[in-house]
Amino acid sequence: MKRKKTRQLFIGNVPIGGDAPVVVQSMTKTDTKNINATVRQIKSLQREGCEIVRIAIAEKEAIESLKEIKKKVNIPIIADVHFDWRLAISSIKSGVDGLRINPGNIGAEWKVKEIVNIAKEKQVPIRIGVNSGSVPKDILKKYKKVVPEALVESAERQIELLENLGFNMIKVSLKGTDVPITVDAYRCFSEKYDYPLHIGITEAGPPPSGIIKSSVGLGILLAEGIGDTIRVSLTDSPLREVSVAYEILSTIGIRKRGIDIISCPTCGRCRLDILSIAKTLKQKLKKVKKSMKIAVMGCIVNGPGEAKEADLGIAGCGKQGVIFKKGKIIKKVPQDKLIETLLHIMKEEINDGDNKKY
Ligand code: SF4
Repeated sequence: MKRKKTRQLFIGNVPIGGDAPVVVQSMTKTDTKNINATVRQIKSLQREGCEIVRIAIAEKEAIESLKEIKKKVNIPIIADVHFDWRLAISSIKSGVDGLRINPGNIGAEWKVKEIVNIAKEKQVPIRIGVNSGSVPKDILKKYKKVVPEALVESAERQIELLENLGFNMIKVSLKGTDVPITVDAYRCFSEKYDYPLHIGITEAGPPPSGIIKSSVGLGILLAEGIGDTIRVSLTDSPLREVSVAYEILSTIGIRKRGIDIISCPTCGRCRLDILSIAKTLKQKLKKVKKSMKIAVMGCIVNGPGEAKEADLGIAGCGKQGVIFKKGKIIKKVPQDKLIETLLHIMKEEINDGDNKKY
């Protein structure tokens, strides 16, 4: 299968597509009219590593809030608009960096044209957001149900509409609730078009199933080189969406960020409370930016050897524990001093290594 390299566009100052890294985005879950709550959530998302934030513009009162929100944050904002072309136009005039619409539900072509004219003037990209619930009736009738071809055809129709209006600052998403259908739709689309792709599994649900669906779907696509920006949709805090997005990117080896805790599944040889140590370390190290692999292993018999690729690790040894570095034991300490000692050594390594503050 031949994938086209995507063209690049910018959402604010963030490049999407081409050689740019895969961008992590999320969406606020506050009422956009509640300016303070929305700004707070956007800032928390940014601290978590979110690079673009989408907000819902559901009614005209939200436009006034949008203007205020834009003044208070410094991250690109995408307005998510359905049905009402006037909201799309006002959002662009209010300074959003990107627009997400489904041209199919905007209505008459002249309305789409009005949106495109202002988007062109302000150089604001538009995401054509197709999902399984928005496939036009005639396409649905043709394919009998939502199949990958139906999602792609829906996107094609909308792309044609924008291209005929001389607009090509387009980003596309083809989200289904069914993982294999979604994956095939993106595969099929990426063989034909070079528009940057926003990938995600829509309505994935609450964790853990929402995380599993997103990880499988996005994992397959990313491993095949498909996807320029990702949004993990969860019925959960948007901060969780961002941390899961980074876990997926890091697991695939696309973007490394922060500490990767690996730990053994434990067995009868285990001499440490692995679960509690791994959780404590994850919590204590969540703000560390440096990419490192830390192993928590149950026993000295297999632990250091099995986790040779870890930068640092700990393993149980009778009533004590050992600290190891790249598989070699460097220190033996009482179990209650293991975490403290590991953190101390880690801090020294990070500060020595590249002057980055721990
Ligand atoms: Fe069992 Fe030791 Fe392997 Fe953990 S590292 S699974 S305790 S053998």
